[in-house]
Amino acid sequence: MMKQEIDTLLQETLDRLARLEDAQELEKLRIEVLGRKGEIARLFKQLGASPAEERPTLGKLLNEARLRLENAFQEAKLQTGAASPRVSGLDISLPGRLPYLGHLHPITKVSMEITEIFQRLGFEVVEGPDVELDYYNFEALNIPKDHPARDMQDTFYVTENIVLRTHTSPIQVRVMEKQPPPVRIIAPGKAYRCDSDMTHTPMFHQVEGLVVDKDVSFGDLKGVLTIFVHQMFGQDVDLRFRPSFFPFTEPSAEVDIRCVICRGEGCRVCSETGWLEILGSGMVDPEVFKMVGYDPEEVTGYAFGMGIERIAMLKYGINDLRLFFDNDLRFLEQF
Ligand SMILES: [Zn+2]
Repeated sequence: MMKQEIDTLLQETLDRLARLEDAQELEKLRIEVLGRKGEIARLFKQLGASPAEERPTLGKLLNEARLRLENAFQEAKLQTGAASPRVSGLDISLPGRLPYLGHLHPITKVSMEITEIFQRLGFEVVEGPDVELDYYNFEALNIPKDHPARDMQDTFYVTENIVLRTHTSPIQVRVMEKQPPPVRIIAPGKAYRCDSDMTHTPMFHQVEGLVVDKDVSFGDLKGVLTIFVHQMFGQDVDLRFRPSFFPFTEPSAEVDIRCVICRGEGCRVCSETGWLEILGSGMVDPEVFKMVGYDPEEVTGYAFGMGIERIAMLKYGINDLRLFFDNDLRFLEQF
């Protein structure tokens, strides 16, 4: 008799549960069945009135039914919670929020790319201080105090003899002072000049390269830089070496590539010339070797330097240098 009552309650409650979607209805039913004055409680009371020999079996049945119902309500509660976000304020069926992933700044990426190309060519990566002695930034590079080249660079002076380096070239000198030839280094880093417009920022990035050994020729310089240009901009990009002047190299040459925008037809970016200047280079001036104690009769070498922003602008077709420093995520996320 009571066994049937338990079975019926269990079956009916599970049936009703299966049809319920509203969390409030669910709670009502739970109280009706499992509450302090609910159906289960009533049956437990009834148990006391049943014949003594049936009590253990019935008690076991009732306990099992209660446990099953408790579990069923627990499960139903989770499901209605998912279907009805108003109830719990949490919609567990929504996909989770992914943590925001940062990525490398385009300048960092290009800097790494340049560095890797030269590393594959056997260059070793070195760094030097941003705050530099006047001696390393100028004098040891054949730019004495009264040299007109100093006017070309608007220098930030910390004291009379300490500057924010205006180029990465002082790293060359520091390396040569420390080690005898051969030298084969690439030196990426920041440089500073008091200048700011569409094509200049007070802080910018350069990569400096230096090779010193017996019988290093201008042909070696051309070979290495040609490989670099082809790996950076593509095998089909033409380049040319144009005579130039730098105080610490002789002879000196600037390297132009065929305009990557107009392919040489002439456009605004290349000032209608069809060519874009990308780096400066030359054979190390014997005076620089003397300053670091190298014998210019014994060794020769070449050096080159390029602006990383310039390379990045050409590679990605960016026309305003300042975009690199505004930290606008809409711009930065394109890379
Ligand atoms: Zn062009």
